[in-house]
Amino acid sequence: MLQPLRILFRPKWMVSRSSGSYVSRMRHLNKIKEEDEACRAALQSGNIFLYHKLAPLLRRTDSGIYQLPALQTKDVEEILEKLGEDKEMVKESILINCTEQNEAQFSFDVGAIEQAAVEELCRGTFVDLRKAFFLLRGSEAPLVARGQALLRWHQTNGFCSSTGQPTQRNQSGSQRVCHSSGITYYPKMSPVVIVLLSDGKRCLLGRQSTFPRGMYSALAGFCDIGETMEEALRREIAEEVGLEVSVDKVELEDARWFSLEEVQEALTIKAPPRNNKGEPTVFWVPPSYAIANRLIQEWANQQHLKS
Ligand SMILES: [Zn+2]
Repeated sequence: MLQPLRILFRPKWMVSRSSGSYVSRMRHLNKIKEEDEACRAALQSGNIFLYHKLAPLLRRTDSGIYQLPALQTKDVEEILEKLGEDKEMVKESILINCTEQNEAQFSFDVGAIEQAAVEELCRGTFVDLRKAFFLLRGSEAPLVARGQALLRWHQTNGFCSSTGQPTQRNQSGSQRVCHSSGITYYPKMSPVVIVLLSDGKRCLLGRQSTFPRGMYSALAGFCDIGETMEEALRREIAEEVGLEVSVDKVELEDARWFSLEEVQEALTIKAPPRNNKGEPTVFWVPPSYAIANRLIQEWANQQHLKS
């Protein structure tokens, strides 16, 4: 009964000669990624996003909007000194990106310092990343996710998997090297496929037991080595949802077909609903920055055009 899968997003490529600022920004970023000296200089005038045990620091403005505060390096050094820490610690910052004005952006985890003390000095709160996604504006979400992913990679790749010797990072944190074996390690990516299945009238959404209550999303899974995207999709759907929509309890807690009306209602929910005990669970979907949300939105739009 399933309709053939259609790829909903088709990127459009255009070559333009007027993209000089983008080219120079990428070249600048590459230089500070590769050259330790250039990176140290960039850190002095750069922006730092703070994390505490991988939870990013957010600040609530007077108008109630949450922002990702970009701290200056000297401010972070001052905070470290005030808390009796070595200000040189700031050099552990990891390069994430650079702004359109060529200011380098770094992430720095202060997990070894008391959380409340840092929060007070920074006038902010460390918030779980998934919660932060709901509070931040769209453009800040990828930045905060990238900063966290890089910090996590460094925290878990301190040793060479061949010799067991400690690995050393370069200044930007774009790689780690084992000087005993000469092996260079790069931050790794885990490719994922995500798909929204439709039977023509309804769409299939699933939830994992780790999801917040009531949240359903498009089906997703990691690609195996050597697998094409299509192969990964076929396998994931077979693994997670059988022909009779039987659900694999290991990965998915539940999977259900949702009508256009239900989906439209869920798309209007802009923050995680309360879902009080004893009351019926409110169905909702991931926030607008998420690919799943875009797939669901796109599907809803197509259903509208059909009717
Ligand atoms: Zn080694």
